[in-house]
Amino acid sequence: MSESVGPGMPGMTAATAFAGMRRVPPVVFKAGCPDCRGRFELAASALRLAIGATSRTTFYSFTCPECGAAVRKPAGERVVELLTGGGVRTLRLHSTV
Ligand SMILES: [Zn+2]
Repeated sequence: MSESVGPGMPGMTAATAFAGMRRVPPVVFKAGCPDCRGRFELAASALRLAIGATSRTTFYSFTCPECGAAVRKPAGERVVELLTGGGVRTLRLHSTV
């Protein structure tokens, strides 16, 4: 009866873990605030996209970094593609048509 040796854990160091990650340039989206008329660039994490059943209920929202207003704007097909491709958090609204 031989004592079995457990499988050797691969030497996973932080360096090897990060080596597998590709550096992606941060995506920024240009946006404007209708309240303070400020223009700024927002990171994908600052935006939220809500996709409804129709284009009328599809919009993106963000908080203005200048005045703090909650801005909500309609998002067309192209905008939706841009935002989702850029890693913006997307919320799918379930609505009955
Ligand atoms: Zn503003």
